[in-house]
Amino acid sequence: MKGIYFDHAATTPTRPEVVQAMLPYYQEKWGNPSSLHSSGQEAGEGMQEARRQVADLLGAYPEEIVFTGSGTEADNQALIGTSIALEKKGRHIITSAIEHHAVLHTAEFLERHGLEVTTIPVDSTGLVDPDDVRAAITDESILVSIMHANNEIGTIQPIKEIGAICREREVVFHTDAVQTVGHVPVDVRAMNIDLLSLSAHKFYGPKGAGALFVRKGVRIAPLIHGGGHERGRRSSTENVPGIVGLGEACRLAGEEMEWEIEHTTGLRDRLIEGMLAKVPDSMLTGHPTQRLPNNASFCVRYIEGESMLLNLDFEHIYGSSGSACTSGSLEASHVLLAIGLPHDVAHGSLRLSVGRGNTAEEVDRFLEVFPAIVERLRAMSPISAGRPASEFEGGHDLHGHEETHE
Ligand SMILES: *Cc1c(COP(=O)(O)O)cnc(C)c1O
Repeated sequence: MKGIYFDHAATTPTRPEVVQAMLPYYQEKWGNPSSLHSSGQEAGEGMQEARRQVADLLGAYPEEIVFTGSGTEADNQALIGTSIALEKKGRHIITSAIEHHAVLHTAEFLERHGLEVTTIPVDSTGLVDPDDVRAAITDESILVSIMHANNEIGTIQPIKEIGAICREREVVFHTDAVQTVGHVPVDVRAMNIDLLSLSAHKFYGPKGAGALFVRKGVRIAPLIHGGGHERGRRSSTENVPGIVGLGEACRLAGEEMEWEIEHTTGLRDRLIEGMLAKVPDSMLTGHPTQRLPNNASFCVRYIEGESMLLNLDFEHIYGSSGSACTSGSLEASHVLLAIGLPHDVAHGSLRLSVGRGNTAEEVDRFLEVFPAIVERLRAMSPISAGRPASEFEGGHDLHGHEETHE
């Protein structure tokens, strides 16, 4: 792919080292790890090493790692699997207003099936107040699920404090760490985490490989039944190459994390400073300091996200927007509404997420072309300065764009 890729929160390129590590498990060591013969055993050994590599990155034991087909699956198993395992204990779960759809829609599914769900609000920077979590816990509560960092606005939650409250109240604590694992330090023991979801393709691993950390002693039911793989927690013949790739991505991330944080933070701050200086009526969304090192997310007044993305795409610059356009009706991001932005502002969101391969020159190229794009769009916008937001609804003709799912 040529162009400037600022969409690492959606997915990342697979590192060549990761592809190299995976190849033997397609070409030579393609056995079924459940087979007793040596062909199966060498596949099993690759998986064992991967399990250690994932566990090492999290400060976990290898037996606590359950491989899944994605971050979404890990989230589903955390919520549904806990609800089933603890159905005799209680029927109440607690989550936040800014969760990824993999948690949000799963909680809604459980609500339709009779569970009670409490949704904790966030402040204008996207932070959950741990005291709100404490206040929401009742005798019926079985699970608290609060994401580590938000995929749209980058805000990092006080996970350790929330985990300590859950521990004290004996409620299982799950965190969706898909945006943080491999990017910032995560230690499941220091952070009081019981269940944690991660996904390889968000940190330079392959797509279709994820994991759920399940702390020793925490009960969870399987979603997928069959031959009893993954200690009965997730049946299916294992995606051995994907799992080996996930392990290698974890190993590399652990080794190079310090460098990557410094590199992406520099680019992120260059983007933020440049944007706020060069684009009038733009604002940073999310927390000013407690945020992902690679996330620069904004709202740009009087224009909407999709047109910014299309115009950037003409310049071969790839970003993302929280706004979702399905069947012609624009729906503002639930995250941006939850931090208190009005609909018209939320529609003007632009998320730039940088990665290992980006350079300062690429950031400067963006800052060179973007102000002119904004000016042009504002000149032809039905909601340019001073116009009421209501004229905005229906005043666009962008169709056929899929919702962003990352
Ligand atoms: C990408 C993402 C997911 C989903 O992970 P997949 O492996 O793509 O299914 C879940 N939660 C968050 C926060 C994400 O960013």
